[in-house]
Amino acid sequence: MSGTAIDHRAVADAPDAGGAGRALWSSQASMADVLDDRVVIERGEGAHVWDAQGRRLLDVGSGLWFCNVGHGRRELADAAHAQMARLATYHTFGRMANRPALELADRLAALAPLPEAKVFFTSGGSDSADTAAKLVRRFWVEQGRPEKRTIVTREGGYHGLHAYGTSLAGIEANREGYGSDSLVPETARVAADDAASLAALLEVRGGEVAAVFLEAVIGTGGFVPPPDGYLDAVQALCRAHDVLLVVDEVITGFGRTGALFASTRFALDPDVVLVAKGMTSGYAPLGAVLVGARVAAPFWRAHEPAVFRHGLTYSGHATACAVAHANLDVLERERLVERVAAREPELARSLAALDGHPLVAEVRGPVGFMAGVRLRDVATAERAARAGLDHGLLLRAVTGGTLGVCPPFTIGDEDLRTLGARLRALLDGLDDA
Ligand code: PLP
Repeated sequence: MSGTAIDHRAVADAPDAGGAGRALWSSQASMADVLDDRVVIERGEGAHVWDAQGRRLLDVGSGLWFCNVGHGRRELADAAHAQMARLATYHTFGRMANRPALELADRLAALAPLPEAKVFFTSGGSDSADTAAKLVRRFWVEQGRPEKRTIVTREGGYHGLHAYGTSLAGIEANREGYGSDSLVPETARVAADDAASLAALLEVRGGEVAAVFLEAVIGTGGFVPPPDGYLDAVQALCRAHDVLLVVDEVITGFGRTGALFASTRFALDPDVVLVAKGMTSGYAPLGAVLVGARVAAPFWRAHEPAVFRHGLTYSGHATACAVAHANLDVLERERLVERVAAREPELARSLAALDGHPLVAEVRGPVGFMAGVRLRDVATAERAARAGLDHGLLLRAVTGGTLGVCPPFTIGDEDLRTLGARLRALLDGLDDA
């Protein structure tokens, strides 16, 4: 094919989906491979979903780590219906506001793992990462230190796929092909769980570093819990070099690690926290940046405050905020975060069934309901995820051939107890193949 002309023949030859949805461009997908091979999820109830073929599947990954309170909650649908019927949304630019956004911001500020938090709403995790990246750079400009622009992330880190997220990505495949080394300039990466690597970078370049962004437990990068002492060391290094600490809790926020926030579980004292998924359990797209007092101060002071020139039409979307309220009500009323903490040892016991399996390299975690089963071979992990559909398990393989085990907080005790054995049976089947 020459120039930029479309190769119509190649498009026409692509596999036929055999029905509706031929136009849907899927995320992170090789389209020719998925067109006639989609898994269409039709409905959900509790920790299970049903696909178009009527198969009942345990949602082992809670979708993409969002469906914490489980599927099919009428209460959340009712909250959305009531708010939409009254006022679907109104924007929050300038002096405009809507009541669910105002009330949710106060509620989040009270729950946040940083005192006196201010809340900037977004439409999801990538939005939150980009918003925070702009904010920390603006913060240093307001401090009279505009040279502090570099944002440091870890290898294996994932902060969404907008422009900043792409540039901050620690997963190489997500960075390539969008321009120079970093689509947004002035980013840097350090080793995943080696504080010495961060120390070495800050020793030389600390004066130009605005912030370190990190997931307390790496998610997409392969479910990597922090080694003992690592996060404490990062916190201390940030303090010593006057670098902001931004904790990406898009997965961990709202209970996944058995504490409302991973920052609390790991005794971190972040300057900024990113949230999304679990805030609504995926019933509506919503994210937020929780901003600590220091970073907020220049933008909130009474006298000549700086203006954060940033905004999203759906920042504080009223219906999404109403859904978030209902979701938090469920979390609190059913004590689901406490349930995750109490059941973590049960998940660990369940996954112990995989110990010594020839295809398994390592079981990572669990930290709360966040674990990964790393297989020895990436292709095997893909095959296992596919075979799961015939074993009643909806699985997803992430970086390095790791199967995510991050069930809804409401997973039944029997499903939790038998999950490891079911995974083992699934892998045994592959072994025989
Ligand atoms: N940050 C982390 C840690 C994530 O896991 C994700 C998504 O998986 C994101 C950011 C991006 O969130 P979204 O896909 O909602 O834009």
